Amino acid sequence: MSSVRVRFAPSPTGLLHIGGARTALFNWLYARHTGGTFVLRIEDTDAARNTPEAVAIIFAGLKWLGLDWNEGPMGDGTSVGDKGPYFQSQRRDIYARYVQKLLSEGKAYEFEGAVKFKTPKTPITVDDKICGQIHFDRTMDPDLVIQRKDGSPVFHLVNVVDDLEMGITDVIRGEDHLSNTPKHLALFEAFGAQPPRYAHIPLILNPNGSKMSKRDEGASIGEYMAKGYTPAAVRNYLCLLGWSPKDNREVIDIKEVIEKFDLPQINRSNARFDINKLYWLNGEYFSKATLDEVEPLAIEVLQRANVLPADFDRAYFRAALGIVKEKIKLAGDLPEWMDYFFKEDFAFDPAAVTKVFTPAGLENLAKLRERLATLTAFDSATLEQNFKELAALTSQKVGPFIHPARLATSGKSVGPSLYHLLEVLGKDRTLARMQRALDQYK
Ligand code: GLU
Repeated sequence: MSSVRVRFAPSPTGLLHIGGARTALFNWLYARHTGGTFVLRIEDTDAARNTPEAVAIIFAGLKWLGLDWNEGPMGDGTSVGDKGPYFQSQRRDIYARYVQKLLSEGKAYEFEGAVKFKTPKTPITVDDKICGQIHFDRTMDPDLVIQRKDGSPVFHLVNVVDDLEMGITDVIRGEDHLSNTPKHLALFEAFGAQPPRYAHIPLILNPNGSKMSKRDEGASIGEYMAKGYTPAAVRNYLCLLGWSPKDNREVIDIKEVIEKFDLPQINRSNARFDINKLYWLNGEYFSKATLDEVEPLAIEVLQRANVLPADFDRAYFRAALGIVKEKIKLAGDLPEWMDYFFKEDFAFDPAAVTKVFTPAGLENLAKLRERLATLTAFDSATLEQNFKELAALTSQKVGPFIHPARLATSGKSVGPSLYHLLEVLGKDRTLARMQRALDQYK
């Protein structure tokens, strides 16, 4: 292992924000690129917000994205990855010791029950690996509260003490923390310690240029988990929010990103979040994945949507998934595309009914049903040939048979290739469904 030690230090807020997830990812990438260590530290000193659920959401999001951390004692007794993260709420004694040190050296003082750190009033330049040299005046900086009246330590103190105690070599975090860095450098100096290198990542903006907040669409990793996104696609997209392989490629294997990732190449301008691009990218992953790869997520999504019964015919399911998979970008779209495979009483799309189940359309459907009933083979090639023969026989194109057949067997006007659809449904279902449509509309 190299000496690089980085950390992701989220405060539990109740969701894993896309900006936080990207910070975690960039730290993880840097650790994996350098062969260093990726530490997870939960900054949970704010007791009001610190719930087990909020912490669990962070773990679940990181695990889903495949961002494994390397060390830390078990925090809450549950097993998460190989080793659990650090919890600041369990490190109060350490912070108290550091406050004591500053007090005894005259670098801090008690003020109305709180403890204040004497901030240096000299200018300082932060040498940031992404933002470059940033100058801070500091001459007017007030002294900094590092411990509140109730004895609880303040963010700036615990953040610095932990980076010091944990031997963090590189702090990679959101640009919203850049203005804190002069304070943090002052604390490192007061402790007589070498500060880490800093790299502040530009913010993620909405398409309209506003800062992305918790409430914006797509802001929470939990949304992608719930909507059936492919974790590798979301992770790939997050890589592109500030980093790129410099050759316009967008689908990039994570191994290659690890190989190429470095801090100085991170884009200095803010990244624009684009949900449509993420959806497209998900499609690239979804359609390229094998049936075996897609199946577990598909089952989960379809059962959660009550489309797939607990007990189902696996071969039939796989055949159906196989023909639908090519058509969609997101596992979360499967319920809409696959519901009719597993029930016979599906509704017929009213707009399509008006357009397709005309007297002529129903006439064609009846003729088609009659012909298909005579078939012994029911594979897509045989079906195609019979559709074509029937069309020729009645001096029509094949479309006037395809549309009623699709609507009758699926209730919809779009879907997978029709001949394959009928093959998967099989002869009995196909004929029964066509009969139901004829009974209902003819
Ligand atoms: N707990 C801080 C946050 O969530 C972490 C700041 C840092 O990475 O230094 O923003």
